[in-house]
Amino acid sequence: MPVPAHAPSPPDHRDLGNSLDLFHFQDDAPGMVFWHPRGLTIYRVLAEAARRHCHAEDYSEVMTPQVLRDSIWERSGHWTHYREDMFRFDDGKEPVALKPVSCPGHLEIVRRRQLSYRDLPLRISEFGLVHRHEPSGSLHGLFRLRQFTQDDGHIWCLPEQLDAEVKGFATGLMAFYRAFGFGDFDVKLSTRPTSRVGDEALWTRAESLLGGAASEAGLAWSEQPGGGAFYGPKLEFSLRDAWGRLWQCGTIQLDLVLPERFGVQYASSDGTCKVPMMLHRALFGSLERFMGVLLEHSGGRLDPWLAPEQVRVLPVSESHGPQARALAGVLDGSNLRVGVDNDPGTLALRVHRAHADGVPFVVILGQREIDSGTATLRERAGEHRTLLQEQVAVVLARQCSPPQ
Ligand code: ZN
Repeated sequence: MPVPAHAPSPPDHRDLGNSLDLFHFQDDAPGMVFWHPRGLTIYRVLAEAARRHCHAEDYSEVMTPQVLRDSIWERSGHWTHYREDMFRFDDGKEPVALKPVSCPGHLEIVRRRQLSYRDLPLRISEFGLVHRHEPSGSLHGLFRLRQFTQDDGHIWCLPEQLDAEVKGFATGLMAFYRAFGFGDFDVKLSTRPTSRVGDEALWTRAESLLGGAASEAGLAWSEQPGGGAFYGPKLEFSLRDAWGRLWQCGTIQLDLVLPERFGVQYASSDGTCKVPMMLHRALFGSLERFMGVLLEHSGGRLDPWLAPEQVRVLPVSESHGPQARALAGVLDGSNLRVGVDNDPGTLALRVHRAHADGVPFVVILGQREIDSGTATLRERAGEHRTLLQEQVAVVLARQCSPPQ
């Protein structure tokens, strides 16, 4: 994705959200997004990309409750370590909280299974709508929200499978980011914090395991001392945008605590019950934040597979409207996201408007095209070409499909 010409500084995704009619914020819901149709389309395209990736990597998707009682949060440690950041209330009987993470729900699902070592590695994922009580002063558009979607996923595996799981995740993550036009990454290994659980030997092993797997995946990483979670060390993946800024998005974390606390066990090959290893991982981190990064990175000129409107059909004059709508119907039938601009106004003005709206392809239909059964395809960079009308959907479907 090219940086927009003449732009002296990064655009603000909140301005792009307004000008491209994607979303808005208002004081009645601080830190929460009102998604407009075009913004929600991008959101869904991102979610589908993550869903395809997870499916290919053998994750099963789940969905867990929004409101959970304090007994769960006490077991997970959130009631002790995270209480002030949670939206808490009373369900009429007991204290409850809106979930700030999906991990406890996943552990509740997994501990109900009679796991054998043959079932491992076991991978599950969720597009978890989470709530965190961020101070109002720290809220910042899509970058810092109180309600957002965390593409949370967890892996339970045997100790000897950890290395391959971390390496597999890191390799897949790099490919996932490249599809969005990000090719430059920074990887940090965040090590034991001052306040932590688990003994020193376990931490040493966990840290060297994560670092070793990252090296094996071909990643250059550096250490971030003390940056780990209280339950284990983590690898954090940042991507560099077109403006040279680094954004921490993906992560994989080793958990030395929760499987035992939630009673997750498996029958090992010698017949004894053992506690599996657990990894937390996310591709986007926050789906909304990733969209903000993507908007600023591209200046709102999203790649065709991400654009909420991929093609706009422009009849040269109003009398060509029926043919334009018929062609748009064919494109829609090929799963392209298509609009028609038949408003009064010159063709040049409407081409300019499509450009300003971030639409990557414009199809022009006038008398000359109608007489010859063709259409003129105009690309974002300005190139024109004439195609037979029946070719338009095929050509555009190819150009608008997600990178493989
Ligand atoms: Zn988790």
